[in-house]
Amino acid sequence: SGQGSVALVGAGPGPADLLTLRAARLIAEADAVFHDRLVDPSLLELARPDAWRVCVGKAPGAHHWPQDRIDALLVRAARDGLRVVRLKCGDPGVFGRAAEEMAALDAAGLPWRIVPGVTAASAAAAAAGSVLTERGETDALVLATAHAREGAAPPDLARRLVPGTTLALYMGVGRAPAVAKELLSAGQDPDLPVEVVFRAERPDQTVLRLTLGGLAQAMKGRAKDGPAIIFVRRPAAPVPEAPAAERAAEAASCV
Ligand code: SAH
Repeated sequence: SGQGSVALVGAGPGPADLLTLRAARLIAEADAVFHDRLVDPSLLELARPDAWRVCVGKAPGAHHWPQDRIDALLVRAARDGLRVVRLKCGDPGVFGRAAEEMAALDAAGLPWRIVPGVTAASAAAAAAGSVLTERGETDALVLATAHAREGAAPPDLARRLVPGTTLALYMGVGRAPAVAKELLSAGQDPDLPVEVVFRAERPDQTVLRLTLGGLAQAMKGRAKDGPAIIFVRRPAAPVPEAPAAERAAEAASCV
């Protein structure tokens, strides 16, 4: 039935009512839904009963579905004329390996589109009753991962945590002790506030509030309690008071 297409769709952090209406429509229309392991099963109920469903998820440490096999499946299904939804947790463009899938589809001359979703950092901040940026306190948001590609150096998180930054760390629980050590030995303040949000928007969501100095100890043995987002907040440096003469000149120029 002609050429198919692929929609890379963000599933959000869990429940179906955090999907976009566009995502829900595309899932309902799809001939095939290829989803991540972290995608909530309730979302798959939105698909047609006769839709082809495949979990192409990678369990941590196990690689049943290497990326090139997923790429090949997408290409084959779209070539066969299917309307494919590639359902990824959170937002497809955030640590979702979407670029590799898009490149494979481009190479095969097949059309794709991206449908955004609520990324884990947004969901986790909301779950913790926190904001991602705050005027005058944190005016930059860094989405980072604690993981490096095999053989590559780990990301230099200390360099990214400049004053006025909220660092949202994805896939960070297992490496949290090493990350905390790196940040502290780079001179970051052990009193910086840290929040860890496990399983945001799931029934068993948990929020821990601690400090950078306590992070390593608190994360020991918790690698299997994920998924989780770790927030580290470094407030902006206080703005020095302008000298009195300068203040008077400023006030005079404001009439
Ligand atoms: N594309 C996804 C991220 C995929 S990487 C997004 O935009 O959210 C997988 C990581 O996402 C997990 O290791 C964890 O850090 C985070 N994550 C995904 N779902 C989560 C949830 N419900 N609660 C907390 N963190 C979550």
